[in-house]
Amino acid sequence: MTRIIDGARLAISIREDTSAAASVLAAQGCPPKLAVIVATQDESTSWYVRSIARGARQTGIDCDVVNVGAAASTEDIRGALLAVNEDPDVHGIILQTPLPAGTGGEVLREVIDPAKDIDGANPISLGRLVANAPAFAPATARAVMALLEFYGVSLRGKHAVVVGRSTVVGVPTAHLLTQADATVTVCHRQTTDLAARTRDAEIVVAAAGIPGLITARHVAWGAILIDVGTTATEDGRLLGDVDAPAVEGRAGALTPVPGGVGPVTTALLLQHTVQSASTHFDRLRTETSTDLAVLPAKR
Ligand code: ADP
Repeated sequence: MTRIIDGARLAISIREDTSAAASVLAAQGCPPKLAVIVATQDESTSWYVRSIARGARQTGIDCDVVNVGAAASTEDIRGALLAVNEDPDVHGIILQTPLPAGTGGEVLREVIDPAKDIDGANPISLGRLVANAPAFAPATARAVMALLEFYGVSLRGKHAVVVGRSTVVGVPTAHLLTQADATVTVCHRQTTDLAARTRDAEIVVAAAGIPGLITARHVAWGAILIDVGTTATEDGRLLGDVDAPAVEGRAGALTPVPGGVGPVTTALLLQHTVQSASTHFDRLRTETSTDLAVLPAKR
């Protein structure tokens, strides 16, 4: 039987811990705050952003949604990002996609202050991550790792295959798996015989955005499948990259879509915001205590 890895349950436990940390910070006068910059009226994006904002508030994190509108220019979006970069009360920033055509998301994500880049969107964050320097990893990549840990998967010496090489999911996930001592193969559009590669893996992370790409012939007996794919259908359903009925009974465990990677990703965005607030608060406290320590000597 294939075990279903319950992302919703893991998300609740992450949110409980995050909420406790948020209330400690708030009591110390540093309430954590998230800002989401949006430049679209698209309904499914608006729904997603509202759910992040609601989740934040339920966790004790202030959340400002700044919608600059679907007609926003690059300069409008840059301006909104610079404002939240400079706002000392904001600790986490999400630049929500999609952005209006021609505004250059590649350039805009470089505007996000790396200290507040809680979804690892700025290339500086990815660079620091792969150089093993402190940085926020993209929340989706961290969600993959958190789900494997939650399920008690030991990664040392295991063969993990990541399907997809995007800089937001495939690349950082492959790095985190390598850091956790797995041997990692990254597959992509040009990979020949994908099934042979994935069948050789004890862990498969599917992040290609192609519904049903991974079927029974792609899966070794007992393999653990983490499904990052979320393709929305016209009738409002969400489809993963794994053909769940086809792998049932063959895979050892599988994350469902929805209810797997998605809720954990959202919970980790909130956790990162609180971590950022905590770092900010510690820095303030150190600066203040240094000032105090210096005062008597000056007198
Ligand atoms: P995401 O943001 O979910 O990572 P992207 O569209 O940015 O999605 O990237 C999709 C990735 O999936 C690309 O790296 C691409 O090479 C990979 N991919 C697409 N089709 C296949 C396929 N048939 N087999 C393996 N990898 C694929």
